[in-house]
Amino acid sequence: MTVDNLSAADIAIDDLDFGPATGLICRECGANYGLGAAYACMECFGPLEVKYNYGNVTRESIEAGPNSLWRYSQLLPVSAGAVDEPNLEPGCTRLVHAHNLAKELGMTSLWVKDDSGNPTHSFKDRVVAVAQSAARRLGLTTLSCASTGNLAHAVAAAAARAGQRSVVLIPSDLEDGKTVTTATYDGKLLAINGNYDDVNRLCSELIGDPLTNDWGFVNVNLRPYYAEGSKTVGYEIAEQLGWRLPQQVVIPIASGALLVKVDKAFRELIELGLVEDTEYTIFGAQAAGCSPVYQAFKAGQDVVRPVKPNTIAKSLAIGNPADGPYALDVIRRTHGAIGSVSDPEIVDGILKLARTEGVFAETAGGVVMATLEQLLAEGLLDPTAETVILNTGDGLKTLDAVIDFVGPTATIAPQVSEVREALA
Ligand SMILES: *Cc1c(COP(=O)(O)O)cnc(C)c1O
Ligand SMILES: [Zn+2]
Repeated sequence: MTVDNLSAADIAIDDLDFGPATGLICRECGANYGLGAAYACMECFGPLEVKYNYGNVTRESIEAGPNSLWRYSQLLPVSAGAVDEPNLEPGCTRLVHAHNLAKELGMTSLWVKDDSGNPTHSFKDRVVAVAQSAARRLGLTTLSCASTGNLAHAVAAAAARAGQRSVVLIPSDLEDGKTVTTATYDGKLLAINGNYDDVNRLCSELIGDPLTNDWGFVNVNLRPYYAEGSKTVGYEIAEQLGWRLPQQVVIPIASGALLVKVDKAFRELIELGLVEDTEYTIFGAQAAGCSPVYQAFKAGQDVVRPVKPNTIAKSLAIGNPADGPYALDVIRRTHGAIGSVSDPEIVDGILKLARTEGVFAETAGGVVMATLEQLLAEGLLDPTAETVILNTGDGLKTLDAVIDFVGPTATIAPQVSEVREALA
């Protein structure tokens, strides 16, 4: 049987069971829609978001769940049975207590939420898992996306696991760590001569084409579901801290969805009485070579003006971020700030996190690490408040970023004297 012969219909599904989700709602005008493959409001073109009617969610009901993001399925637009459908079971990544790094930076308590531990080594497995579950229910049998790299890898792998067809679109200039990994799963991989924003626009155009009638673009027509997967990063941080919120969090911004959804997760946990209502501050991190949200923040503007990306942090290189204005809202409401760091600072950040904590981050993690230092230096982040920084991807995927800066201490003959000399 070819992959094309397998469809979502082969998997037993409770028709349109989206768990606690009750519909979609426009984030701008509040117009209501049914659950479907829709992402823009027909009244005002505003982005749509999932609406819920949560049941009785307790710490115990979550803790009794599986060791994956499905332990939070009561808070996601998925059926309780999503865990049993073929998927990569991402989530439950480690929260590293960064004593060495804290000491070096003069901080009291610092943690690294290390999402490089997901199945395809980035946090994108979370959003894909939720989108894949929605795609099944909506009868969208081909899994697709526009990607800066990590999403491509996550979609190709998730589709392979479920015996689904995938069509992944990426800018043609991505790192080998992103293209080779994605291509390995034997889906369709289209490298587009253009940047991410060109690829994204192409996907929006494709959605109107009969060619894509049964395609679920995880971050376009499935975006309301996809984005909800990011909430699980916030839930996990709180649960791993012993059911409480950290005082400060530093989050990388590409489209801005992750940052917005971590905030949403924290607010939901408070509303549901799962954590105490303590104040927290959310900080954003961008690369100077693609910092449209930072620039709007600095200028005190609500409008995010698109930029042309030019940075080694390709996973964050979205020049026209869909959730940029909402990220600004969160940062302003929680009295946070945004950092913007240069490519050399990103490399230094990667090396520092590796040297102090044994965590090898991809460039996005380098952006967060360097932003932490910048915010501390500028007095914007409190060194005495408990802080969590996010590493969202694995350094093995962006070896190019550090290849010119590290290497063997020495290359020598197999002789004791040479070892002694090399280490002298
Ligand atoms: C996609 C991605 C992000 C941020 O994504 P948003 O679009 O802002 O939700 C952060 N880090 C890595 C490594 C990513 O791949
Ligand atoms: Zn609207």
